[in-house]
Amino acid sequence: MSWIKDIISPQTRQWEEFYRNRFQHDRTVRSTHGVNCTGGCSWQIHVKDGIVVWETQQLDYPVLEDSLPPYEPRGCQRGISFSWYLYSPLRIKYPLIRGALIDAYREEKANADGDPLKAWTNLQNDEEKRKKYQDARGKGGFRRVHWDEVLELIAVANLYTAKKYGPDRVFGFSPIPAMSMLSYAAGGRFLQLFGGVNLSFYDWYCDLPTAFPEIWGEQTDVCESADWYNSKMIADMGACLNMTRTPDCHFFAESRHNGTKAVVFSPDFSQVCKYADQWVPLHAGSDGAFWMATTHVILKEFHHDKQTPYFINYTKKYTDSPYLVKLEKDGDDWVPGRLLRANELEPFKDVSNGDWKFVNIDQDTKDFVVPKGASGKIEKKLLPADA
Ligand code: SF4
Repeated sequence: MSWIKDIISPQTRQWEEFYRNRFQHDRTVRSTHGVNCTGGCSWQIHVKDGIVVWETQQLDYPVLEDSLPPYEPRGCQRGISFSWYLYSPLRIKYPLIRGALIDAYREEKANADGDPLKAWTNLQNDEEKRKKYQDARGKGGFRRVHWDEVLELIAVANLYTAKKYGPDRVFGFSPIPAMSMLSYAAGGRFLQLFGGVNLSFYDWYCDLPTAFPEIWGEQTDVCESADWYNSKMIADMGACLNMTRTPDCHFFAESRHNGTKAVVFSPDFSQVCKYADQWVPLHAGSDGAFWMATTHVILKEFHHDKQTPYFINYTKKYTDSPYLVKLEKDGDDWVPGRLLRANELEPFKDVSNGDWKFVNIDQDTKDFVVPKGASGKIEKKLLPADA
């Protein structure tokens, strides 16, 4: 006799087979979700008859450093349901093109004895036909077409633009290089060879945190999330980490065990607030003013009222603070204006590319100096003369 006693008829529990079948698999493989996600979490993919049936998190991440918490658990809700996207009826698996456009192109091609470039040129020169397919944008009406046809149309559209306006009027977007290296390389290489302009994925999504290039001069110089653990203070702003950096959010929570002070600045009491020491409920849209006020306090206390050598040396070495700015009259006051250009000063009035060079004061001689490194010195291709 079984030590489990079925208190009801086993036949009535046949529905449980549904779950047993649902999680059947004949092998597991390792993978991640490389479609516009830089999380790179490691997953066990359970496969049955060549079909992904379910996924679960891998638990074998190497330890980065003994002093840091382990990486597990990693993963997110979007990732664990990723296999649904693979087999979704909504997944795009072949080219779709707006019906109004392909009809117009086919008609022109027939009229042009099958000459694709002539067909596209005629279509572009016919205001009425052009407007018709342009007005159809945003209204659906997509139709499946063959790759040959859509590649031909893309090719002639690029050739037409290059012939009429120049190749640098062809702007392209290539996927995130960190995630889709081959796609990125193919698009980037094509645009280079063609003479077009390669926009970054950030330009396309419009989600570049502009403060990054403005402050550090390069795009998203982000630290490894595990390093949050070493922070003295974390200011979380514009990111509900649970939602937007799910696999790494645990480092934020764990950092508090290491003495990190965590502050969240957000209009709403978002999920991440629960980990924080403090929640600052900024009004929506006031973030910029808040951080300018913070910067003001830092500069006043560490630069003006009390000069701190570490801070001063850092700003001299790594920021553009030493460059002179013009003072502008504002009522009875003088306020800082734009950067002083080298050719606005008598000693440098004839210097080449003087609009593109800026000025410091030499600490020893107290003379004006024009340091190297400004775009007037390095952008030889863009500027008429070498500096
Ligand atoms: S963050 Fe989510 S979607 Fe991205 S790799 Fe990790 S589990 Fe996948």
